[in-house]
Amino acid sequence: VVSTPDPQVEIVVDLDAIAHNVRVLSAHAGDAAVMVVVKADGYNHGALRVAETALAAGAAALGVTTVAEALLLREGGITAPILCWLNTSDSDYAAAVAADIEIGISSVAHLDGVARAARAVGRPAVVTVKVDTGLNRNGVPAAELPRVFASLSELVAAGIIRFRAVFSHLAHADEPRHPMLDTQRERFVEALALAKEYGLQPELAHLSNSAATLTRPDLAFDMVRPGIAVYGQSPIPEFSDFGLRPAMTFRARVALVKPVARGEGVSYGHEWVAPCDTTVALIPAGYADGVPRALGGRISVRIGESAYPAVGRVCMDQLVVDLGDNAAGVAEGDTAVLFGAEPGDPRAQQWADLLGTINYEIVCAPRGRAVRRYR
Ligand code: PLP
Repeated sequence: VVSTPDPQVEIVVDLDAIAHNVRVLSAHAGDAAVMVVVKADGYNHGALRVAETALAAGAAALGVTTVAEALLLREGGITAPILCWLNTSDSDYAAAVAADIEIGISSVAHLDGVARAARAVGRPAVVTVKVDTGLNRNGVPAAELPRVFASLSELVAAGIIRFRAVFSHLAHADEPRHPMLDTQRERFVEALALAKEYGLQPELAHLSNSAATLTRPDLAFDMVRPGIAVYGQSPIPEFSDFGLRPAMTFRARVALVKPVARGEGVSYGHEWVAPCDTTVALIPAGYADGVPRALGGRISVRIGESAYPAVGRVCMDQLVVDLGDNAAGVAEGDTAVLFGAEPGDPRAQQWADLLGTINYEIVCAPRGRAVRRYR
């Protein structure tokens, strides 16, 4: 996200909505604490501001993928626990240990790297074991858990590592009645029991993402790890909106209003031809700013009280909307909402449905010239 004094394209983030959503999730979590996931720059909402807001609204911890993401939060002044879980053997564990970041490990090699860093830095590393209970992505597979726990128990006994948590991630959380959720819970409980056999007692166990937090209270354990719901997007849109408030508005300022004569084609390839004399507005946001080209001719934008159809192809830097016979009152500089949360705003979810994707991908899309603002 670049900074310009005169942005034509904006990502506006409603921090009150973030706080509201954290409270909704906390209510569902019951006695479990809430770790708010702010990876990928807070799902493109700005990790630091989201983190500050979420912590003030009652979140207990933050989750990110990389050490670098965690360090950015520390540099921004966040003192709450931060877990990073997508590590490799050569991640910068020394920096993580020095900054008191909780390190998620998925193999003995990761654990060895963390132990070396703890010795070098001269303080215990805080370690969380990611257990693969069936997603088959990162995480320690069941067959390797004995080796990991054996090594961990020696390191804990030697005071080199503090054993913070065991966690896992669900494969079918957006299908609350899918049998795999119970299978993963059983495997997770077995992993916790195995840790005990090695004399290990984690401070915490956590399994649930947004969907599970909202629909499967039986999986909450000590902590839940919601991401997308914090940003007000439903993790199961066909099921419910759960009372969440979308936090992101993607908008641009009308760059030009002009007439187009009947029979004239608009934008590359002239896929849309004006059926009558009309007026169009130029919106200075294109696929380089995160408006997918595949949405050409399929979305509307809200300007004032009205929705106007996008016509023709979405270009790299701009798209065109047809004002038709409702052009009066639309002027250069007006705000055009691409998606947002106000009544009448197109929704990120609608873009996702049109594209056959998930709302996660839509909120992560705005970029390029778009400047982020908070309200
Ligand atoms: N936990 C882990 C390990 C994740 O990778 C993610 C995101 O994919 C989350 C929690 C949050 O998931 P969601 O955004 O579906 O709530």
